[in-house]
Parts: sequence; structure tokens; C-alpha cells
Amino acid sequence: MGLSGLDIYKQLPKKNCGECGPPTCLAFAMSLAAGKAALDACPYVSDEARENLASAAAPPIRLLKVGAGETAVEMGDETVIFRHEKTFVNPTGIFIEVGDDLSDEDVKAKLEQIKGLVFERVGMEYAIDGLALRNVSGDAKRFLEVAKAAQALGKPLVLIAEQAVLSEAAPALADDKPLLYAATAENFEAMTELAQKCDCPLAVRGEGLDQTAELAKKIAGLGHKDLILDTGNRDLPQAISDLTQIRRHALKKFRPLGYPAMAFTTADDPEEEMVEATALIAKYAGLLVVKADQVSQLLPLLSWRQNLYTDPQKPIQVKAGVYEVGEVTPESPVYVTTNFSLTYYSVEGEVQASKIPSYIIAVDTEGTSVLTAWAAGKLTSEAVAEMLEKEGMGDKVNEKRIVLPGHVAVLSGKLKELSGWDVMVGPREASGIPSFAKSKFA
Ligand code: SF4
Repeated sequence: MGLSGLDIYKQLPKKNCGECGPPTCLAFAMSLAAGKAALDACPYVSDEARENLASAAAPPIRLLKVGAGETAVEMGDETVIFRHEKTFVNPTGIFIEVGDDLSDEDVKAKLEQIKGLVFERVGMEYAIDGLALRNVSGDAKRFLEVAKAAQALGKPLVLIAEQAVLSEAAPALADDKPLLYAATAENFEAMTELAQKCDCPLAVRGEGLDQTAELAKKIAGLGHKDLILDTGNRDLPQAISDLTQIRRHALKKFRPLGYPAMAFTTADDPEEEMVEATALIAKYAGLLVVKADQVSQLLPLLSWRQNLYTDPQKPIQVKAGVYEVGEVTPESPVYVTTNFSLTYYSVEGEVQASKIPSYIIAVDTEGTSVLTAWAAGKLTSEAVAEMLEKEGMGDKVNEKRIVLPGHVAVLSGKLKELSGWDVMVGPREASGIPSFAKSKFA
């Protein structure tokens, strides 16, 4: 998406004076395009050219930050339509909606519940990103009270209220940089002023795609560009269509839509809501407000998000090496697997479930699973034998016996020959480990 040397050259003064370093403007343009020079090196660039070049070089979807400090959530800055083209960058911020009409006790209970929504999967910890506080009471004082209580969670907030309520409450919350929801065709001037005064990000809610683009353009013209778009459509197919159009136009550098977009789930049925949420995360909500607050809904949802936002070119890996599961002793069995996180943690979970303290050797297969690694020549008898030797496994256990994944039973003969260890062929799937361990090692 970067500018070509010729695009840049067209904007330069063409004096060919050489003051910038290279002898000609064209040579300078080429250096700029290659990222080897800075525009400031030319003293003659006009303000207009400077602005054109800066905006043309800006990312197609502006990066937006909601919240402050370490828990701030970033959205936008994406560069592709499909994950496999490159990668998706900033995982959709998932915010749970809370109404300010709850009693103090219920607010407290809800916040406690949200605080507990922290999960660990494939060695990574992930949690709900923030809270979307909706002014249901119609009372600015109550809204502020609940927002203050929610601040204690230390997570970013989306403040959903009419402009009059936000004008009263937002300044007191501005230090935490909440997202103000929302500027509309009726209130955008006042909302922009408020967002600028508080230095907070602002949601732009139009009625449909065209009005949203128009509004965003007007607000950017007023000088506020920390925006997120909401076309107002809640019908799922239409919402997905809008989000997709926003992404497509933004990537073509249509500036009025060059911002991240947000969405809301609407279904009351918990399962239907999760269907909505998974679709909206995939296409292409930068921020999603959900009603869901149950582990049974959010764990799969966050896992889905994690999978989508994993760089397909860089599988999640654990460090290759030897891992101890439980209080290992010289009697502990030794399992072999790969260093692909999903594979490793499946094996680790099942070894734990077997309740027999064990060693697991994670072979460096560059983050590929057992069969893929074997087919690619990365999980070999030589690699396993080398790790047994390098890690001094022979000194750690009394009985030299190693369990190979069932899918690579074919490695057993050579591994025995190379290492001198007894090679046992384990189950094909990790789920078979507990019964295998019970029958062999209990
Ligand atoms: Fe061209 Fe500016 Fe470099 Fe002179 S200083 S050669 S005008 S780019």
C-alpha cells in the first residue's frame, strides 16, 4: 500500500538541486519510497505536497485506541480483507454491555463476574476487553456513579448515552479515555467538541453506510480523527455487508471510511447471540458489544477470536525442550510431541488428566503438528534421539522408555536403534493418553 517512487516524485519541487543528498528529485523520491530517506531532507517541499504525501502514506484503516495504560485496546490498522493474504493485526475488542439501571448490588456482582472472565488457552491468557456502559436510567448522575464503579475494573469503557448525559459524565472519566458513543447527524458538532475537549475516541453512528461516511468526513473536517464507525444496522446480514463495505473501501483508501468499525449483537437467545458474534468478529468488527457474560459463551468466542488473529505464517509455538508435568520422579514416563502450541497443550492437558507425573519432550518442528511435522521431515527419529541426548534424559529416569505419538509409529525402529531407549507407541490422539497411561504406568 506504500507510495511508488513516481507517485512521490510527482509531488516534489523538481529543482534537482541535490540539497537532500541524492543528486536529483527522482533519486530522492526512490529513496523515500524505499524508506531510506525522510521527506524533511528536502527544504523545498510545499505544505500541500507534505500533506498529500503524509495522508497517502497513512495506513488505510486508522489505528484507534480505547482506554488508557496497559489495558487499552487497539483496533484498526488492518491491511487485508482475508486473513490468509497476510494476517489480521488487532483482535476485535470484546466489550460486555451493562445497564446503569442495575442496583448497586447487581452492578457489583456483574463487575465481579466480568473480572473472573479470564481464560488460558495454548499458553496464552486472554480476557474480556472492557465494559460498554449504557445509560438506561436516563440519569447522568447514576450513569457517572456506575461508570466510576466500573473504572475500578481497570478495563476500558464504552459510554453509551445521549449527548446531554455524556456531556455531564464524560469529563469526569476522560483520563481513562473511554469511547464516547455516539456522534449522530443531529449532534455531531457538540459530540465532536466534547470528544476533543476530553481527548477521547468517538463513535460515529450514521443511518446506513453513506450517511456514516458523510458524518465521519464532517467530523474529521472538524479536526477529530480518533473515530470508529457504526452504520446503525443491526440486522445481521446487513451489518456484515456494511462492515465488509467499510473494510473494502478503506483498503482502497476511501478516507471517509478509513476507520475501524464497531458492531452490536442483538439476539436474546445465548446461542444465537454467539452465532452473531462469531460472524461479526470474522467480518470485520474492530469492537464488538455483547450481552453475553457466561463462560460457556465467552470461552469459545475468545478462542475463535484467538484463532482468527493468529498469524497464519507464524503458528503459536511453545519453546522446544523438556517439560515436567506434576512432581516427576525417576519413574516418570517420557512422552514426545511437537512444539506447536495446540498440539503441545492438548498433550499436556491429557498427561495432567492421567494423574501420572511425566516428562514431555517438545521437539522443535517450527510450530507444526505431529503429522505435518513428520511429513515435512521435522519430526524425525534423529531429532528425538538428539533431544534425549541433549537434555540428558537418560540421567533423569531409571527406565529408558519413551512414548511416541501413535501417528508416527513408523519412527519407532530407528529411534530405538539411535537412542537405545525402549520406544512405546502411544495413542494417535492426545485424548487417548489417560487410558494409555493407566494401562502402562499406573
Ligand atoms: Fe529535489 Fe528537494 Fe532534493 Fe532539491 S532537495 S533535489 S528539490 S528533492
